[in-house]
Amino acid sequence: MKIRKKAYLTIDDSPSKNFLPKLDFLIEKEIPAIFFCIGNLLEKHPEAAIKSIQAGYPIENHSYSHPHFSDLTLGECRVEIEKTDKIIDALYRQADIKRAQKMFRFPYGDKGDMRRGLILKKGRNFDIKRHEVIQNILRDLDYNQPKYDGIHYNFMDKAKLWNDADMSWSFDVMEWATSEKKPTFGIKNLSQVLRRLDSKRPKDCRGNLWLEKRWLNSPSSEIILLHDHPETDDIFNNIIDKLKELPLDFRLP
Ligand SMILES: [Zn+2]
Repeated sequence: MKIRKKAYLTIDDSPSKNFLPKLDFLIEKEIPAIFFCIGNLLEKHPEAAIKSIQAGYPIENHSYSHPHFSDLTLGECRVEIEKTDKIIDALYRQADIKRAQKMFRFPYGDKGDMRRGLILKKGRNFDIKRHEVIQNILRDLDYNQPKYDGIHYNFMDKAKLWNDADMSWSFDVMEWATSEKKPTFGIKNLSQVLRRLDSKRPKDCRGNLWLEKRWLNSPSSEIILLHDHPETDDIFNNIIDKLKELPLDFRLP
């Protein structure tokens, strides 16, 4: 028997040039979502972002140019965060909607601490000082994780994700990995992406998360990661339809 559970859908790398059809599809299917946006794309498609805000789909910060934060100086990290923060502020003003809470997600999940997104990795590469300095840049700008209901995964506790101001995810749809020529984790096409959504042990690029019961075999709520990529425009609606079929109650935090 499948457990019905809460799900928070987050969509990264917006707004692409094909953002609006995706927004419309989510509205039609009554699935709420948060869009983590790249600053330079917000500058290209401000009207799309304003529509999203006005439709109740939050526009949030995913850096200005989508770098690996571990490759940047601390000054550059600050600019990536602040520049996009100001762009988003201006968009909310233009939309005439109050920016209720601020959320940030690191590109590639790379928190700038030299682990490059491998959150379970320990050892000498982990620069705790850089980690904290960057977290404090976020906190100083009032970024914080929203209050989720019922997320309890050992791997998230172990990685101490709850101490941080940025927003992580518990389940990666991994549609970004779709490739016939260079498949990651053997994901070659849409049917394999969809099959993975039914999987008992979905693999994850962040490590051996399958060591605990996950996804549909766990009662934990989920933060789902999907992307707004032109390369996967043709399968976006199929993925949303499939997610809607699963025993998930979609909501905003
Ligand atoms: Zn991204």
